[in-house]
Amino acid sequence: MIELRRPSEVEAMRPAGRFVASVLSELSKLAAVGVNLLDLDGVAHRMITEAGAESCYIDYHPSFGAHPFGHVLCTSVNDAVLHGLPHDYVLSDGDLLTVDFAARVDGWVADSALSFVVGNARQEDLDLIDTATRALQAGVEAARVGNRLGDISHAIGSTVFDAGYGINLEFGGHGVGRVMHGDPHVPNNGQKGRGLRLRAGLVIAIEPWFLAGTDEIRMDDDGWTIRSADGSRGVHMEHTVAITDDGPLVLTAR
Ligand code: MG
Ligand code: MG
Repeated sequence: MIELRRPSEVEAMRPAGRFVASVLSELSKLAAVGVNLLDLDGVAHRMITEAGAESCYIDYHPSFGAHPFGHVLCTSVNDAVLHGLPHDYVLSDGDLLTVDFAARVDGWVADSALSFVVGNARQEDLDLIDTATRALQAGVEAARVGNRLGDISHAIGSTVFDAGYGINLEFGGHGVGRVMHGDPHVPNNGQKGRGLRLRAGLVIAIEPWFLAGTDEIRMDDDGWTIRSADGSRGVHMEHTVAITDDGPLVLTAR
């Protein structure tokens, strides 16, 4: 069921957005060569506790997950791109890290993800990040009253395809509210002018992700981490966005 939020409810979602943004900002500063993924998860866990927030991940156990997630962050490195289960791994120079984080504050959820390079970056990784950043921006720009859901999907998809990458449609954006994953599903490719008409009060996570060399994925034995089938690197950028009469409001802006 698609729920629309009153302006006062959109306002009430701001603290969750600000908190999620602050955690990602902090983690992007801390993530450096020599830092363990488990330490990043620990920092996020501490920030959740100090803020009186709630993790959306730690008990999360959807149909596609083998067991409850057990951590508060998704950390996906290099050819891992989604749902990376934090594990005993020390970041090394040139790693492409995606941190995905969702939390509930005052009963409202925000969900955001960020990919960046640790240490010295390879140009091909900077190109991935640039394309994903532009795809996210294009999706946000299309999140306007009177447009349709397909306009968001098309904006994302055309940006990614024009840059020469493929798109896997198994996972995409989603409604955000009291729970992390609600309706509607927001595919990362679609047709302009098609689908749900966008109305003020719709709050969605917009989250382009793709891989450098393929649109095929495989899951690790940990039952969570999703990587490219060909070993090529992946990228993922996500914001929680409220559609308002004044245009798109990026609740998780950093
Ligand atoms: Mg997310
Ligand atoms: Mg999401």
